[in-house]
Amino acid sequence: MGNEMKKIVIVGGGAGGLELATSLGKKLGRRKKAEIILVDRNHSHLWKPLLHEVATGALDEGIDSLSYLAHARNNGFHFQLGSLVDLNREEKVIHLARIDDEKGEQLVPERHIAYDILVMALGSVSNDFGTPGVRENCIYLDNPKQAQLFHNKMLNLFLKFSSHSNDEARINIAIVGGGATGVELSAELHNAVKQLHSYGYQGLDNNALNVTLVEAGERILPALPVRISSSAQQELINLGVNVQTQTMVTSADANGLHTKNGDYIQADLMVWAAGIKAPDLMKQLAGLETNRINQLVVGPTLQTSRDPSIFALGDCANCTQENGTPVPPRAQAAHQMASLCHSNILALLNGQPLKSYRYTDHGSLVSLSKYSTVGSLMGNLTRGSMMIEGRLARLAYISLYRMHQVATIGYIKTGLMMLVGSINRIIRPKLKLH
Ligand SMILES: Cc1cc2nc3c(=O)[nH]c(=O)nc-3n(C[C@H](O)[C@H](O)[C@H](O)COP(=O)(O)OP(=O)(O)OC[C@H]3O[C@@H](n4cnc5c(N)ncnc54)[C@H](O)[C@@H]3O)c2cc1C
Repeated sequence: MGNEMKKIVIVGGGAGGLELATSLGKKLGRRKKAEIILVDRNHSHLWKPLLHEVATGALDEGIDSLSYLAHARNNGFHFQLGSLVDLNREEKVIHLARIDDEKGEQLVPERHIAYDILVMALGSVSNDFGTPGVRENCIYLDNPKQAQLFHNKMLNLFLKFSSHSNDEARINIAIVGGGATGVELSAELHNAVKQLHSYGYQGLDNNALNVTLVEAGERILPALPVRISSSAQQELINLGVNVQTQTMVTSADANGLHTKNGDYIQADLMVWAAGIKAPDLMKQLAGLETNRINQLVVGPTLQTSRDPSIFALGDCANCTQENGTPVPPRAQAAHQMASLCHSNILALLNGQPLKSYRYTDHGSLVSLSKYSTVGSLMGNLTRGSMMIEGRLARLAYISLYRMHQVATIGYIKTGLMMLVGSINRIIRPKLKLH
């Protein structure tokens, strides 16, 4: 590539995109060796695996979210607020939608941003597979807004229940999808009820809560070893969660879910967390190759198959491993891809050979709220997969988030955030109560 200052545009400031913008900003942006621009549709970043905690109120979004503008200024990159709507590969520009205020009045017109290298890191959204009634009646935990919506509806239900408390009534919450999101949310709900009861919500206890976790497959947590999924299922049953496996939801209406075997699961609140897809706009994006769930097909260097100046990483990328299976849509994969993308962009700029991505599975952990954490650790130390539970598993679970914090805000600020967390546990309520 020539010597003029290159423009590297990263779309999506999530688990992968924000880490990449930060590292490239520090390496190239601060030294004016390249201009790094991060585009995101939101003003601030919240690490996505924390969303189920925001939904139940176990986490106050305001405390853990990070302002893109402030972070960009401190780390040598620029931030542009906006939603990607189109891409022109011939002219090498991306198109951002106009930004309106809540009354529909234009704040910022439609914009074009030119790039030399583009990185697509738009993440994924829930996949309802076109199941009738789901879009209208279920909440998808795709972003902080949705998590907050769930939180408000949950609190309203609990408030209504505790003011009309009668022994017969129960609060019915149905969660579709027995993956990590569904399992963790089911357990967090029981924790939320326990906390709210202690804050004075009359009659609200675990007997009043009826959480049904619906999974189409034979077992929950299908991506994890059988031992872990059985252990997690047993923990959920002990908490009082009604786990229904081999149950296919065929439609949803305002009051519940219809299943293939003719049953009706009544629910006051429904969450759909059964599978993911990349955003629909990627389906026909400038002739780039996509798979059936809209992910951009990338080669081992993470460059898209039809355009080497466009990289894709994280949930929106379809990267095939040597054994033929796709890299799973996980925060640890987004984290690793961001670091390889960083090296490969430097190599591309310096005319050096690019490296291939290899996914390293460090194991999977599922947090069952305060009650327990189960999972497996993988690596040289364990020589294969080792099941872990309890405190050690909880520590490993938290460390994934700490790694993301270190990659974005550094060791000192991560340490300070941990301190703030400890102080907040003393001075704030254990649950966000409004
Ligand atoms: C509740 C929950 C729990 C999870 N728990 C775990 C876990 O324990 N372990 C694990 O490994 N993984 C977990 N995951 C999965 C993990 O969150 C994702 O794999 C990871 O966040 C993917 O990172 P990413 O950078 O690809 O996308 P994301 O982190 O989703 O970031 C995408 C970014 O793109 C932005 N964006 C999207 N569309 C546009 C657009 N058109 N224009 C501009 N910006 C846009 C979004 O605002 C967002 O900031 C969990 C997911 C959920 C929902």
